[in-house]
Amino acid sequence: MTLELKRVKVEGHSFLSDLVLGERVAVTGVVLSYSPPRKTKGPDWSCSLQITDPSLNGKVTVIIFRAQYTELPEANIGNIFFGTGLRVAYYMDSPQLIAYKFESTCSVINDDLMNDDLKMDELSHIIMTYAKYLRKWWNDIENFYAGVPKSRKLTTIAEIHSPNIFFDTIAEVVEIHRIYRTTELFITDYTHNELLSNNDYVWNLPNGLDARNIFQITLWDEHVVNSENFEAGMYVYLQNIRTKYNSFNHFQGVIHGDPETRRTRVMKADRNSFDVGELIKRKERFMQKISPKITRVIDCDVKPTEVHNKFLIRGRIIDYEPDGFENFIRPYCIECDKVWVPQNSAAKEIKQCPECLRETTFIYEFLLMIEDEDGSVLPTLVSGRDAVRFLNGILPTKVMQEETSRQAFLNLIRKLLASVIDHGESTKFFEFCVESYFASDRERLYKLINTILEI
Ligand SMILES: [Zn+2]
Repeated sequence: MTLELKRVKVEGHSFLSDLVLGERVAVTGVVLSYSPPRKTKGPDWSCSLQITDPSLNGKVTVIIFRAQYTELPEANIGNIFFGTGLRVAYYMDSPQLIAYKFESTCSVINDDLMNDDLKMDELSHIIMTYAKYLRKWWNDIENFYAGVPKSRKLTTIAEIHSPNIFFDTIAEVVEIHRIYRTTELFITDYTHNELLSNNDYVWNLPNGLDARNIFQITLWDEHVVNSENFEAGMYVYLQNIRTKYNSFNHFQGVIHGDPETRRTRVMKADRNSFDVGELIKRKERFMQKISPKITRVIDCDVKPTEVHNKFLIRGRIIDYEPDGFENFIRPYCIECDKVWVPQNSAAKEIKQCPECLRETTFIYEFLLMIEDEDGSVLPTLVSGRDAVRFLNGILPTKVMQEETSRQAFLNLIRKLLASVIDHGESTKFFEFCVESYFASDRERLYKLINTILEI
């Protein structure tokens, strides 16, 4: 809590944190819960309520005894309780306030009473002013949870870096599993974290999300009840999540109950709040990038010992070279390891290597101009075995020899580049794995690797 807990006090009143066993006190507090009247074993009636004030991190139970149940006050959560002549007792190490009949007064000030400008004596006036102060303090707490002010730092999934840290977050619920005594909440905020890449899910992840985007949180105790109305797609505000590795060595979070405060730590987030707005924007960017799924990247992990020359990039194709898809395939001499660019004749007609006169074969060789998220353009060579893999295993020699393979190749490349060809617009964003290398003139070039078209 970062709310200001200013200690304002009414003369002759005790703070709820300062109760001493056996004393008789006057107190004022905010009602947190109320149990209706019931008959005692003796001749009396009793009711109980729980109250708090800014001095206390928790609550104190007040038990009221009266001869008639009509003398017992009624209260709602958020009302202000005002009592005099209450005795401080202890029950299981916690203070309790007992309001015996004949020696105590108890009243509850609801919002209607508070706004009533009746003439009051000076003490009532002071108490009413304090009651208003308490009401405002309580309102601020309620709004604090509903509105999520910037004062409480939020952490994204991408920012979690180790076990045994506590953090707060705002996220979207992806899936909920309600299990005996716990609720398993699966959330995303459309950022990703490599610590989550080992987790596998038996259910389908929506919106093109993968394991790295999903964080599992186990809710215990009161949080199971407080999340009863949660459903997939809802935006939620979660507090005091502790990170850990579970028994399957999966990185996850947990929110345990607090038997002292039973404070609400899981709640629906206000859709109009700034932070939810940011989350929705991030979601839109994410959906635009991954949908539809165009590629699958097989392996782009870089081992710590390797020279960092492999990159997973999100980018879009803005142009390609050469013109004409037929020219994506070139005659190739295995012996000389040379690609020939035909000048006047079609590739098909070069059947012999101009240098060694051996029979040529065919190879893919073309450039995709890929613009990454920062707007940098990477001229990326698609060639050789990686090109065959990219183009779903269609072999260039087959394309040159068979009509069915030729059609399959043309359809695939057209599907990929339709927006570029037809409208001069870029493709959608998708993922590529590229390897950077230096050409002889020390110019950095890129080669597409380990990427498969899935359109
Ligand atoms: Zn040759």
